[in-house]
Amino acid sequence: MATADALLKPDHGGSRKHFIFTEEHDQLRESIRAFVTRELAPHAEEWEETTFPDSVFTRMGELGFLGLSYPEEYGGQGGDYFCNLVLAEEMTYSDSGGLAMGVAVHTDMATPPIHLFGTEEQKQRYLVPAIAGEKISCLGITEPDAGSDVSGIRTRAVRDGDEWVINGSKTYITNGHRADFIVLVAKTDPAAGHDGISLFLVDMDLPGVIREKKLEKLGMHASDTALLAFQDVRVPADALLGQEGKGFYHIMWELQGERLIGAAGCVAGAQKAFDKTLAYATERQAFGRPIGRFQVTRHKFAEMATKIEAARQLVYTTAWRFANGEYPVREISMAKLNAARVACEVTDECLQIHGGAGYMREYGIERAWRDMRLNRIGAGTDEIMLDVIGRSYGL
Ligand SMILES: Cc1cc2nc3c(=O)[nH]c(=O)nc-3n(C[C@H](O)[C@H](O)[C@H](O)COP(=O)(O)OP(=O)(O)OC[C@H]3O[C@@H](n4cnc5c(N)ncnc54)[C@H](O)[C@@H]3O)c2cc1C
Repeated sequence: MATADALLKPDHGGSRKHFIFTEEHDQLRESIRAFVTRELAPHAEEWEETTFPDSVFTRMGELGFLGLSYPEEYGGQGGDYFCNLVLAEEMTYSDSGGLAMGVAVHTDMATPPIHLFGTEEQKQRYLVPAIAGEKISCLGITEPDAGSDVSGIRTRAVRDGDEWVINGSKTYITNGHRADFIVLVAKTDPAAGHDGISLFLVDMDLPGVIREKKLEKLGMHASDTALLAFQDVRVPADALLGQEGKGFYHIMWELQGERLIGAAGCVAGAQKAFDKTLAYATERQAFGRPIGRFQVTRHKFAEMATKIEAARQLVYTTAWRFANGEYPVREISMAKLNAARVACEVTDECLQIHGGAGYMREYGIERAWRDMRLNRIGAGTDEIMLDVIGRSYGL
């Protein structure tokens, strides 16, 4: 029985498991962490130079990690949405934001629309091999002339008998060089505004699909990022994914899951940088004491911990609502905005606490800092998140 004495003692070391997670999630977390730290993390530095190999998908497919929440009939594990959060969090232990992003694009961005909107034939042809790690996917929304403004895209799909003919270009496409297929957003009726956009499943080896350029980036070096061109690409009528003219709404739904997963990754990444920096601040000495013993440093940790914990609670509570059938776009936008900001602030502070070591590649903090910056831009910028939140109040 708990005594008053025990109850009154602060429980700093207690289990921090959130109510959305069960023991099965803990076991999953353990097995993903073991795989990631054993088989992925040791290559983090090498893959910054070479990008990570396709065999990561094959291996993760074998282990069942690419279809955690998809039904068993498609080769998935039949888990809930929280399993995907666990994956996003544990991928942080790969020490490679680029790798985590490449995998997340496949598991939580390109394949969910196939599962929700695809025909049985499309699921067999694309989802099943994607879950098995035999086909790699990418998602093509952004274009050289339209990013935040999705309705401003220019890629056209024109019906020609039993086929669609696609022309246009996409940029900043993660996995674009390695992908076997793309979930492509194109205009099918330019006069119809938001109701003139549709999704297509396009094989990347079709004539007219050109992987133009591997783009150089500030961070996320382990991922490949492509500029793609589509020149008179002919796809059959059944390449249409979901309803014709409803692609804008389909992709807005996809973005909600993408933002939540990204937010979970941000919180986990911030926590990892915090933990690493805490260990450093305990060891590193200056003026005769560990740097963590200066009040200014102690307070930096207190600020960071508070921000991380608040961001985590918003992500988990919103994920719980999303997983229970609600469509909380306002809170997803808040969770994404806040988690991305917090992650950038925390990694910046962690770099500062490392001093000169923070600037050196061997400590890994500079990579976390560079990689993290993307989160305030990708999947919807801070400004777009603020606009979605502001508009949700009728403004
Ligand atoms: C490394 C990386 C990987 C990516 N991966 C993919 C991918 O796999 N697939 C994909 O489709 N896309 C991908 N993207 C694209 C990403 O989602 C876009 O870059 C992002 O949505 C912003 O679009 P943009 O770059 O065209 O910026 P723009 O839309 O041109 O915005 C420029 C600036 O204007 C601001 N702005 C725009 N509109 C408004 C407004 N209404 N109110 C206030 N401010 C506004 C923005 O916030 C931003 O600060 C990736 C990007 C990067 C950098």
